[in-house]
Amino acid sequence: LKDRQRLPKWMKMKMPKGESYSKVKNLVEQHGLHTICTSGNCPNIGDCWSRGTATFMILGDICTRRCKFCAVKSGRPLAPDLKEPGKLAESVRIMGVKHCVITSVDRDDLDDQGAEIWARTIREVKRVNPDTKIEVLIPDFRGKEDLIQQVIEAGPEVISHNLETVERLTPFIRFASKYRRSLDVVKYVAKNYKIAKSGIMLGLGETHEEILQTMDDLLEAGCKVMTIGQYLAPTSKHMPVVEYITPEQFYEYAKIGRQKGFKFVESSPLVRSSYRAEEHVNA
Ligand code: SF4
Ligand code: SF4
Repeated sequence: LKDRQRLPKWMKMKMPKGESYSKVKNLVEQHGLHTICTSGNCPNIGDCWSRGTATFMILGDICTRRCKFCAVKSGRPLAPDLKEPGKLAESVRIMGVKHCVITSVDRDDLDDQGAEIWARTIREVKRVNPDTKIEVLIPDFRGKEDLIQQVIEAGPEVISHNLETVERLTPFIRFASKYRRSLDVVKYVAKNYKIAKSGIMLGLGETHEEILQTMDDLLEAGCKVMTIGQYLAPTSKHMPVVEYITPEQFYEYAKIGRQKGFKFVESSPLVRSSYRAEEHVNA
């Protein structure tokens, strides 16, 4: 509660309301569905759900990596659930999701890093929900192009891979991941697919110059859509927030990003990678 009280006024959200929000919330509770929106206590839930956007996590809920900003549990994951693609497709149908964002934990324990389940999930969600747009927020698959290709071939509408932070801070915040490897993932997607999207969080101690450099790196990799949001520490054991960036500064980064050449920059304190994701489909 203390941390919440210290939040600047622009980070304090109103309680979500509205008929469609309540309808989806009831469905989620009744069917025991798993969304990042609820498990991550995302501040945008009322807004997103009333527009039919939700984010689901696949490949279980235990990650083999341990990023300092992330609320997901780490450890040794369970064997993949082969029924998961079918269950998720059904969840999307029950919830009436129009724009489905799918993400996963990292599965360094599996030879294919989970790529097969990824591809099967995308296909199954499409089969059961032919009108739903699918955006995938993929792990780095250790940079293996054949695994990224499996996701591409399953045919989602948008593929996104987040850098999360600037190059200097990456080893401190994403221990088992690499900035350059993530850039290569974005580059491969940009070259072999219609659209590549990526995102970073601000407030982790990065400098203005480093943010601009990250934009340049992403543009060079062929990325066309970028999200920029404020980092919030999930618990006191996570990386503390170094700084709250003002809405005006976020606005400035959106402007700079567009001037530099991005087709779409979503930049404001409450932006998450999947926020207003449906608008990026035709970017
Ligand atoms: Fe869910 Fe993403 Fe929207 Fe948050 S921003 S409510 S995680 S879809
Ligand atoms: Fe969280 Fe992804 Fe890092 Fe795993 S790899 S700890 S899910 S951010």
